[in-house]
Amino acid sequence: MARPSLKNFRRIVVKVGSSLLIDSNAGEVRTPWLSALAGDLAKLHGEGREVLVVSSGSIALGRSRLKLPRGPLKLEESQGAAAVGQIALARIWSEVLGAHGIDCGQILVTLQDTEERRRYLNARSTIAKLLEWRAVPIINENDTVATNEIRYGDNDRLAARVATMASADLLILLSDIDGLYDAPPAANPNAKLIPVVESVTSEIEAMA
Ligand code: GLU
Repeated sequence: MARPSLKNFRRIVVKVGSSLLIDSNAGEVRTPWLSALAGDLAKLHGEGREVLVVSSGSIALGRSRLKLPRGPLKLEESQGAAAVGQIALARIWSEVLGAHGIDCGQILVTLQDTEERRRYLNARSTIAKLLEWRAVPIINENDTVATNEIRYGDNDRLAARVATMASADLLILLSDIDGLYDAPPAANPNAKLIPVVESVTSEIEAMA
């Protein structure tokens, strides 16, 4: 199957994982990488495409700013870390896109915002307005109020929902995992990368 070209897509959601944005050892944002990504997004934007970003990193960034010890965080600690981290994350996105003359707007959603019709329509119309203004929506889960039972927890899922909500024609997940493997690659050295999935069979579903 021919690789699809970016040229064929107009409204594109790009999900950026925490591990790409934040160097957890140094506790800092990976600025050169992020600037390069912002350059790529600016190019797409300049070609007239509509770009939406789903950015993780609030908890990781807050954790490093607050110098919290390694290891799992309690719920209220993740919420507090997200509160500190999200404000920094929004500023970073505004700076890297602003360097290309592009405005961006922060949208924080909860699971209910995407499940309840009225709230879903609200979030969708705010996204549509930003796109009409050529501003890039920077979307994350509102981790400061989300509790374990009522949260996405995983921005891959959130990004999929955002892509549907915004009627996007392409969703790109940027992460430190190369793609779909037939077994968990960290635990299994023989795990094989599946470069292209042409149709979702029950075998593929079992891998996921
Ligand atoms: N919303 C979380 C954060 O910004 C990230 C969830 C994920 O990494 O998938 O820290």
